[in-house]
Amino acid sequence: MQSWPEWLPIREDLLNAKPYGAPQIDVAVKLNTNENPYPVPSAVKARIEKQVSASIDSLNRYPDRDAIQLRQALASYVNSSVLPGSKFDSKNIWAANGSNEVLQSIFLAFGGRSVGFHPSYSMHSLIAKTLLRSFNQIALTDTFEVDLDLTLEHIERDKPELLFITTPNNPTGKSVSLGVIEKLLKSQSSHGGLLIVDEAYGEFSSQMSAISFLEESPSLVVVRTLSKAFAFAGTRLGYAVARSEVIDALTLVRLPYHLGTLTQATALAALEEYGELLADVERIKDSRKFVAAELLKLKLDVIESDANFLFFGGFGENNSGRQFRSGELWQALLDRGVLIRDVGVEGYLRVTIGREKENEIFLAALREILTLD
Ligand SMILES: *Cc1c(COP(=O)(O)O)cnc(C)c1O
Repeated sequence: MQSWPEWLPIREDLLNAKPYGAPQIDVAVKLNTNENPYPVPSAVKARIEKQVSASIDSLNRYPDRDAIQLRQALASYVNSSVLPGSKFDSKNIWAANGSNEVLQSIFLAFGGRSVGFHPSYSMHSLIAKTLLRSFNQIALTDTFEVDLDLTLEHIERDKPELLFITTPNNPTGKSVSLGVIEKLLKSQSSHGGLLIVDEAYGEFSSQMSAISFLEESPSLVVVRTLSKAFAFAGTRLGYAVARSEVIDALTLVRLPYHLGTLTQATALAALEEYGELLADVERIKDSRKFVAAELLKLKLDVIESDANFLFFGGFGENNSGRQFRSGELWQALLDRGVLIRDVGVEGYLRVTIGREKENEIFLAALREILTLD
């Protein structure tokens, strides 16, 4: 743990805090942060170069503060691909440097208590903590499902202003059914709260986006990102889809000119032909099915995934062969040049689906470790 010097007036509640983040270790096979493993296609690369180059001339000026053109492009993407036939425009879209910044703005704009689930995306509670907000976590069941009765009871008792749910969930990969989301939304709107649906892995999911509920209820914010399926994590661009009143509220808390000219130009170039960036989604889903089947052959317990990663266990106590704790298995893989993610749920590890060759190396290392006497 870091010890802070006396002279530093750091906030007391941060004294024992650790910065978020998976270890960024330089290894041959990196399957720990759920990115798309394929690089930006060359046609997109050429367009980005052109747009960025054209915008260099205006770098002496601040960017479009409201990023209208970019938000319109995101709305067009939603209307044509996420929820075909919908009619959102820039007023329904907020964009920021990664969906993490969008999430932070949501906490800044909307007050009070917040509730989420566990295990789920840890940044929801971490952002709440840095902003001195309460954040209660409701445990998922043993099979990582939402316990609907327990959750509704909690919501009715606590009346949280913000309820966060992630679908497909990270780290489990499981989708939350639209039926469950609809009930949570009704419950939140009945006391004037908001439901925040984090769909960072939406493009991999076989389920329709929760955006479809915006027509019947205003109490919904759907947060998405270009960091995962779009193979665009380095750009840092996330967005929210919501009723215009919600977006207006987010505008109140944004930092001026938060989205740089180059970020806007890069994202615009990418969204022009979004299909090219999403071209590898099917390939990744096929690889996921392959890796899941191979893990099952090793008698591991694999949670059904609707995303680009797998959460697996069965290497611990109940395993008849060699037994590992999560941290031990994680280290044994790292010793063989394969970095996956230990999210702190004992008995389970998470692996991102990589290129075919990377998946093979991961599986070979795992086979070797689990069958060593
Ligand atoms: C990766 C991830 C994000 C963060 O994405 P950025 O847009 O890169 O900030 C948000 N939510 C979940 C559930 C994620 O897994």
